[in-house]
Amino acid sequence: MLKNHFPSKEYLENKEVMEFYHNFEDKSIFENECCQECKGRCCKKCGCSYYVEDFEDLSLNGLKTELNKGDKSIVSTLEVSYANHRYCVSPILMIRVRNEGRGVVDLFSEKTRCSLLTKDGCPYSFENRPTGGIMLIPFKNGSEFDCKTLETANQIAIDGWKRYQKVLSRLVKYYTGRSLDERLKEEVGHTIDALASYLLTAPSYTTEQVELLGNIQYMNDDLTAYARPDALALCKKASTALGIYRSI
Ligand code: SF4
Ligand code: SF4
Repeated sequence: MLKNHFPSKEYLENKEVMEFYHNFEDKSIFENECCQECKGRCCKKCGCSYYVEDFEDLSLNGLKTELNKGDKSIVSTLEVSYANHRYCVSPILMIRVRNEGRGVVDLFSEKTRCSLLTKDGCPYSFENRPTGGIMLIPFKNGSEFDCKTLETANQIAIDGWKRYQKVLSRLVKYYTGRSLDERLKEEVGHTIDALASYLLTAPSYTTEQVELLGNIQYMNDDLTAYARPDALALCKKASTALGIYRSI
């Protein structure tokens, strides 16, 4: 894997990123007391995102070799747009460290802890960590953990993967035997059904569940075609009741 975290002019002109890399010289901030005390809350929520710059070979075979190692998944981040009086939800595929209990293709599911996290922390040294993990800056404000994600940089990561949608779609087909569209619909259906079962009994929602409900709110009938109608109705009702609206 290539470890070049300084890929573009856009990065270097971003003030937040510049400030971050200034601190980067002092690596002790990443092994600081904050992380030791918190014991990897971020890693318990989800695996880190890879940037395209983390991979040397972004060809179909190159990415297949990486995915075959078993510690990464093709995931999707959903973009919501509004045109011709209707919302449209489209996936942007990218690669993330695999979450526990998930497979090589994980397009729409509730996040679980990073599959690589051990009792001693992350098995990667700081330098070899996926860039998405490096971009989370540990910070404690009084007694509260208030770690900072460089969101602009995260958006750069998403934008970076946009150029590789075709190759990632082909890999979804290779691993699942389904087209991207079909596979996404299956996962959406499965997750809505599971979420609805949870909503029937749960007194509160996790942040990840709220995020899922925010996406479901905007999905059209085609994308939710495999969900049980009662489960879909319950999820939409819950997101309306909670007033969850994603910014578009
Ligand atoms: S980055 Fe923040 S959330 Fe992650 S282990 Fe460090 S202190 Fe905890
Ligand atoms: S790869 Fe390492 S830093 Fe990233 S979520 Fe997993 S254990 Fe945490």
